[in-house]
Amino acid sequence: MSLESVSRMESKLLLPTYDRQPILFVRGRGVYLWDSRGNQYLDFLSGIGVNALGHNHPAIQGAIRRQASRLIHVSNLFFHEYQAELARLLTGISGLDRVFFCNSGTEAWEGALKLVRAFAQMNHTNGHKPNPNPNSNSNSNSKTRILAMENSFHGRTFGALATTGQPKYRAPFVPLMPGVTFVKFNDLDDLRRKFDSSVCAVCIETIQGEGGIQPVNKEFLDLASQLTKTTQSGALLVLDEIQCGLGRTGRHFAYQHYGVQPDVVTVAKPLACGLPLGAILTTERVARCMHPGMHGTTFGGGPLTCAVAIEFLHAEKKLLKHVRALGNYFHAALEALDKKHKSIQEVRGVGLMHAVELDSSELAKAVTRQLLQEGIIINRTHETVLRFLPPYVIQKKHVDRVIKALDTALQTNEEITRGKKKTASPQRKKKEFHAHA
Ligand code: PLP
Repeated sequence: MSLESVSRMESKLLLPTYDRQPILFVRGRGVYLWDSRGNQYLDFLSGIGVNALGHNHPAIQGAIRRQASRLIHVSNLFFHEYQAELARLLTGISGLDRVFFCNSGTEAWEGALKLVRAFAQMNHTNGHKPNPNPNSNSNSNSKTRILAMENSFHGRTFGALATTGQPKYRAPFVPLMPGVTFVKFNDLDDLRRKFDSSVCAVCIETIQGEGGIQPVNKEFLDLASQLTKTTQSGALLVLDEIQCGLGRTGRHFAYQHYGVQPDVVTVAKPLACGLPLGAILTTERVARCMHPGMHGTTFGGGPLTCAVAIEFLHAEKKLLKHVRALGNYFHAALEALDKKHKSIQEVRGVGLMHAVELDSSELAKAVTRQLLQEGIIINRTHETVLRFLPPYVIQKKHVDRVIKALDTALQTNEEITRGKKKTASPQRKKKEFHAHA
């Protein structure tokens, strides 16, 4: 089928939720994709952080073939060979004790929200009392309040939306789950002000992805960790590593750059390299609040996805050093561009999760479009931010090509914003992330 006919049919048959680029991809190999017209693309987005090993990786292909010919689904009413082994690998790299498998990022996040409420209910006399005004920073003793971050993104289901700190995603669907208070991201005073005994969890994306690759500050994460770890508080620290976890930053988890240990972590995107699989990781202490029947899923953690994820984790471990090296190389090259182009407001990121913030959304749009025309896939997020989430298997020559194309695209399109001055952005100091990374 041609792009035109697919696009025509989709426009009549699908809910109009996506504004797709006019490209019909038909195959991929390594860091490259090919469209229906035979054009080749260098993939620096990995299907939004999913295809971490690139396309058609032989180990992943092999695992899919092997497992698909043996057993795809059994439901969670029965055992299969791979959940326990995958959980062993995930707990081994995270320092956490137990795992729940599901199908996606948002589903992992929903489960994490249920977990923190259930934990509070089981462990605190005030856990189960409905709060008469759960959105207030109240003096009520109900321990149900969740602190979430402004500018965050946790997914599209109701709980995830309720904790997503970007009004544009929430507004069309109100009323959402009550009991969420938003804290200014990286604002220590705001966190201190809003944290009290009614809080059951502090929820943070270790590096905000959709929000423009904004890493949490070390001081802020330390404070969240201290507040939640005090015995009296009984609140949990929940980290969303759906985009930044599983090797993306050059460590297994982004929080491992900071020296904190969360109570709950969610992962998804790269876990099964494009097959739908998410997971909640937590401690033995927290896991005790769950019993059979409280939570579940029909598809989550099936034999096919888990067998593939085991292969992914073996490969991820071997690639961490490479991700760090290529990440540093990429970061240095982006910083050199930053010095050259007035339109660049800031370069952020670590490992193979990077952002270039520009001074206008039109410029960001034009640059993304030009790169695509030249066969390079990146994306624009948060209006002005160019986001790079390449596969972990890229080489220096791929980085060089992207930097060269970016340099040209900025030069060509900068006149759109000519006249705007480079402003001293308060975000600039976040580059320090690299120092304690
Ligand atoms: N959390 C984060 C940090 C994400 O980046 C995303 C997706 O982009 C989600 C949650 C939601 O994941 P999914 O789209 O798999 O539901």
